[in-house]
Parts: sequence; structure tokens; C-alpha cells
Amino acid sequence: MEPIPLARPDITDLDRDAVAAVLRTDQLSLGPKIAPFERAVASAAAVRHGVAVNSGTSGLHLIVRALGLGDGDEVVTTAFSFIASSNCLLFERVRPVFVDIDPRTGNLDPARIEAAVTPRTRAILAVDVFGHPADYDALAAIAGRRGLALIEDSCEALGARYRGRPAGSFGAAGCFAFYPNKQITTGEGGMIVTDDDRIAELCRSMRNQGRDASAPSWLGHVRLGYNYRLSDLHAALGLAQMRRLEQLLADRARVAARYAQRLAPLADRLGIELPQVLPEVSMSWFVYVVRLAEGADVRRRDAVITHLRSRGVGCNNYFPPIHLQPFYREMFGHREGDLPITESVSARSIALPFFGGISEAQMDRVAEALESGIQSAGA
Ligand SMILES: *Cc1c(COP(=O)(O)O)cnc(C)c1O
Repeated sequence: MEPIPLARPDITDLDRDAVAAVLRTDQLSLGPKIAPFERAVASAAAVRHGVAVNSGTSGLHLIVRALGLGDGDEVVTTAFSFIASSNCLLFERVRPVFVDIDPRTGNLDPARIEAAVTPRTRAILAVDVFGHPADYDALAAIAGRRGLALIEDSCEALGARYRGRPAGSFGAAGCFAFYPNKQITTGEGGMIVTDDDRIAELCRSMRNQGRDASAPSWLGHVRLGYNYRLSDLHAALGLAQMRRLEQLLADRARVAARYAQRLAPLADRLGIELPQVLPEVSMSWFVYVVRLAEGADVRRRDAVITHLRSRGVGCNNYFPPIHLQPFYREMFGHREGDLPITESVSARSIALPFFGGISEAQMDRVAEALESGIQSAGA
């Protein structure tokens, strides 16, 4: 039987034509597609500036630099995330201080933050994990009280809302990513979003080799910069995808709703936990992650993953906790047990095949394989 991929980009002839049109011009980079793509994403996030970059990781790195974070500084963040959300701190020798998560959403638990704040703490870096916005009322209150910057890693949450306000708009700056498994894709790419003129200007300069963003001269460099530019080929694809954003998000929401319905009996019979969406949130579905019943361990979860894959069902363990990655253990001395909720949630999680075009028959196959996998693993 045809394997079911974990993710699949939604690419139409409109997208292909948009990229091909750029190839018929001489401006493959620093061209006319960047600004409209930036405006489209900034407008979706209801902020004034979008700064396109070549990946979400680059965008997060530039935000950390634009905020002037560096050696000896600490940032409170979550270990239940894709590793780039912490690596962007390590690039600048900033120490990530991990606090445990809210088990309902997998997001940073605001109630645990203040105990982790020290005189060296400069910022809170929240991740809208799986497309569910973090608790921004609580996070903003703590940041305000403690004089901390708020950074928003919205790489998984384009189009999500928290109390009606778009993800990406809550921090000093936010970042989206456009790898092929995200809600929209440019192949590779990212976008910094911010209302802060200074942050936007610094990021524009640093993505372009430190050239002066307001008066660029090709061989004049006013600060340390990088080549984090997005090409016009990528931006054209992103712009074409942004024109279909509502549809892309609606398709994903429909699939999530169908999974919830299809898997509800398994939740009852086998105790698996389906994704929770808090009432103040409008989710932008990035992945569909179920958890085995409380008490299941990594070994049983991995047995279920092996079973699913043997049935041609793509799946993965989103996310192994960042603090237990080998080089984080080595750098910071983290051990099992440091973050019990993160570790328990992580050990039980399985991301199922999830993309707008998945069929009913494919979802049925996923559900059947999940059920037989859980039964044979005894999880
Ligand atoms: C995808 C993602 C990123 C950025 O990824 P890139 O591959 O660099 O675009 C950052 N943080 C999180 C949480 C992500 O899911």
C-alpha cells in the first residue's frame, strides 16, 4: 500500500507559475518579490514590519542579536520545542533556562517562570508549540513586571490567534518559518515580524551582511552581518502561498477536526490523549500529535512508531526534550527528571500524518494502525 507521509507541502500551478515568472527575470535576489511577501506576512500578524530571511532559525538568531543579548545573559524558555528555538540563544552564548510546560498545551507554563528568573535574565522566549499560542496575557504580565523582553517563536503558528490577536504579534519580535512541513512554505525561509522600527532596521541590516538598511551601499558594512537573505524565487512562492493562507489553514483545521472525531473512540478505549485547544485560542494546526496514556514510556511509544511505519504510516516523536539532547546535557549538566512534565509528555507523543490533502481513507488507515500498534505494544 502507498505510504502516507508525515507531512506534504500544498503546491499548486499558481505557486509553480509564480516561481517560474521570477526565473524569466534577471532579479533572482534582492528583487521585487520580497517587499510584498513581507507585507503579506506582517499584515497577517497585524504588525508593521516583516523581515524575510532564509530560515526560521536565521530569523530567531537575528532577533536575539537585535535585542542585544549575549554572553552571560539568561533567557527563560521551553525544552518542549524544535531545537532551533534554543540554539538561537547558544549562537550568542546566551544561556537557555528551561522551565516546565503546561501539560494541556505543551507550552511554557507561566506559573513556573518567576522562580527561574535571576538578575541575569533578560528575556522570555515562548514557543507556540504545534500551532497553539502560548499564554500571552500571563507571559506579558511577567515580562512587564520583571523588565524582560518577550520573544515569540511562532515558527509553527502562522495564522493562530490568542484572544483574537494573531500569533507573532505579542513579543518585541516574533518569527515564522516556511520549511515544507509548515502551514505555508517557501522551501526554506522565515520571517521576522515586529512593531519595533529599530528591531526591524537592525534585522534588515544583519540579514544583508550588515549593510546600512536605509542607505545600502554594496561594499559598505556598518555592523557584523550575515547572508540570511531570502531569494526572490522563494519569496514569490511565499507570496503565492500567502494568497491561499485562509484556505490552507481551513483545510488543516478540517483534517484536525476529522482526526478528533475518528480517534475519539480510541481515546475512550485506550486512554490516548488528543490535542487540546484552550478556549481563548484559535489554533493554526501545524501537526497532529497524540499522546499515549499516562504511564507509557519511551520504549512502548517507540514500538508504536515502529509499528505505524511498518504499516506505511509516517509518524515521528515530536519533540524529544531539548535539555536532554547530548550537547545540551554536556554543556549544562541536564539530566532526566529535570523537567518531569516535559519529559512525560515528550515520551508519550506521536505526530501522525498531517496535511491539508490527506484523504478519509488515509485517516482511517492511520487510526487502524494506531490502534493495532498500541495493542501490540501494550501501551
Ligand atoms: C520550524 C521551526 C523553527 C525554524 O525552523 P527552520 O527550519 O530554521 O525554518 C524554529 N522553531 C520552531 C519551534 C520550529 O518548529
